[in-house]
Amino acid sequence: MIASADVVVVGSGAFGASAAYHLAQRGVRVAVLERAALASQTSPRAAGLTSQIRATPALTRLAQRAVTKLAAFGAETGQPLRFTQSGALKIARTDRDAEQLTREVTRGAEVGVPISLVSIAEARRLLPILGVRGIVAVTWSPTDCNVEPSELPLGYCRAAEKLGAVLLPHTAATGFEIGPRGVEGVRTPGGTIATRVVVDAAGAWARLVAAALGASSLPVVPTRHQLLITEPIAGVGPHFPIARVIDANVYVRHERGGLMLGGYEPDPLQPEALPDDVRALPLDVDVLWRLAHSVREQFPIFQDPSIRVAEHRGGLPTMTMDDRYLVGPLPGVTGAWVMSGCCVGGLSVSPALGEAIAEWIVDGAPALDCSDISPTRFGAPVDEARLRERCRHAYATHYRASGGEPSG
Ligand SMILES: Cc1cc2nc3c(=O)[nH]c(=O)nc-3n(C[C@H](O)[C@H](O)[C@H](O)COP(=O)(O)OP(=O)(O)OC[C@H]3O[C@@H](n4cnc5c(N)ncnc54)[C@H](O)[C@@H]3O)c2cc1C
Repeated sequence: MIASADVVVVGSGAFGASAAYHLAQRGVRVAVLERAALASQTSPRAAGLTSQIRATPALTRLAQRAVTKLAAFGAETGQPLRFTQSGALKIARTDRDAEQLTREVTRGAEVGVPISLVSIAEARRLLPILGVRGIVAVTWSPTDCNVEPSELPLGYCRAAEKLGAVLLPHTAATGFEIGPRGVEGVRTPGGTIATRVVVDAAGAWARLVAAALGASSLPVVPTRHQLLITEPIAGVGPHFPIARVIDANVYVRHERGGLMLGGYEPDPLQPEALPDDVRALPLDVDVLWRLAHSVREQFPIFQDPSIRVAEHRGGLPTMTMDDRYLVGPLPGVTGAWVMSGCCVGGLSVSPALGEAIAEWIVDGAPALDCSDISPTRFGAPVDEARLRERCRHAYATHYRASGGEPSG
C-alpha cells in the first residue's frame, strides 16, 4: 500500500486504465485501485468495434482521435493490441434511416472522417455473406476498425506501470476523506491513500463511488449488453467489414474465423442489485437469437441450423439519457472526476477520453471539446423511474441516437 498519490483512479477498465496511462505520461504520480483482477469486468467482454460518425462534430472528433490512437497503440505504449482496420458498413432498411445515412456522410465530410454511400452490390462485394433483400441504402466507412478488447485496458495498465503508476488489483476504494477543500484521501482495506484528486472510473459501480464521494447523483444506468461468437464458418475471414443494421440495432463482425453478433434489444435488463463481479450477471442467449432473426434477410447465415455458438458473453455498460458519455469534473465535489456513461461505446473511445481527462486535470482543460459529455448537462436530477426509462429508450434506439437522431 502507498501513503499518497497525486491522483487515485478507481477502476482499471478501459476508462480508468486509459486515464492512468495518460496521467502517468504527463508525469503525474498515479495509483489505480481495482477491487477485482485488473481489467476483468465489462471491458474484456466488449465487441471492440469503433464507430466514428457521432451525433455532434465534437463527439466525432473524439471518436476519430481514438481510432488514430488505436492504430498507433503498439508504437505509443509498447504493448500488444490486435488491431484490424476492417472498415464498417451501415445498413438502412427504411427511407428514414437512409436519410440518416445521408446526413452521416455530410457530417463525416465536415470533420474529415471518410464515409460514403455505396451500392448494395458493392456492399455485398465487401461482405459476401450479406443478403441484399430489404436494404434501402448502405454507407462504407473504410477507417473504422476493431480491436481485441481485453488487450486495450491491460495494455494501458502495463504501460502506465512502466511510467511509474502504482497498480493495486484486488484493492477496493471503500470510502473517501472529504475536507473543506474537497478530496483529501481514499480509504482502502489496507489503509488510506492521501490524494487531492480522484477519478471515478468504476464502470457499472460508478454511481456507488460517486455517492461515496458525496455527489448528489450520477445519471447513469448499468444495462446488460451481450454478444455471441460462432464456431468458425467456411469463407468467413478478418477481411469482413463490421456491419450494422440501423433499425434492428444489430452488429455483425468477423471473430476467430466465425461471426460475432450483438445488438440492442428494446427491453434490456437494468439490474436493480448489481453483482460484485460481472461473471455473476445472468445472460440470456435468446435475446441474441431474436436479434439474429430480425436481420434474417440481411444475415441468413444465422438461420443455418448447423451454426454453433463458441462463446456467449455479456457485461454491464452504463447508459445515459442522451446516449452520450459522462466525463469531466464530478459536480459538487472538488477534486473528484468521473468517467462514466460509456453507452456501450467506451472501450473504443477510451484512448481519447483518457487523454482528455489527463489534459483536463493537468492543464485545466482538454485539447478537444468535451462540453457535449459534461456531467452537468442534465441539470436537475430526474427521478429514478424516469432515468431508467430514458436510458432504456436511448439503448433501444442506439443506432439512431448515435447517428444524431433524438433518442428521447
Ligand atoms: C457485449 C459488449 C459489447 C460491447 N461492445 C463495444 C464495442 O464494440 N465498442 C466499444 O467501444 N464498447 C463496447 N462495449 C462497451 C465497453 O465494454 C465499455 O464501454 C467499457 O468497457 C467501459 O469501461 P469501464 O472502465 O467504464 O468499465 P469496466 O471495464 O467494468 O471497469 C470498471 C472497473 O471498476 C472496478 N471497480 C468498481 N468499483 C470499484 C471500487 N469501489 N474500487 C476499486 N475498483 C472498483 C471494477 O471492478 C471494474 O474493473 C461493449 C460492452 C459489452 C458488454
